[in-house]
Amino acid sequence: MEHRRRTEITIETRNVTIIRTSNQSDLVDCGDCGGSVLTFSATNASLVFGIDPAELHRASSIGAVHAAIGSSLCGRSLATYLKRDVRYIED
Ligand SMILES: [Zn+2]
Repeated sequence: MEHRRRTEITIETRNVTIIRTSNQSDLVDCGDCGGSVLTFSATNASLVFGIDPAELHRASSIGAVHAAIGSSLCGRSLATYLKRDVRYIED
């Protein structure tokens, strides 16, 4: 009698983005989250998170990504929108 053995392998991947910050004073209050957040210009956000600036603009216009101050984007909502695990390391 033949015995078959079946092995299941589950692979989980996590995408963690680590951002080194120079100073806590870079934090600003986001009116939408109600907390202190690091902000990104659209250009920096697209470089750091590797996404198309047009997608960022669209996400911002529907409120999925918050505009914290002026055209700066709220880092917390960016991480949530992009489903990224973001860690901030202070220099
Ligand atoms: Zn926010």
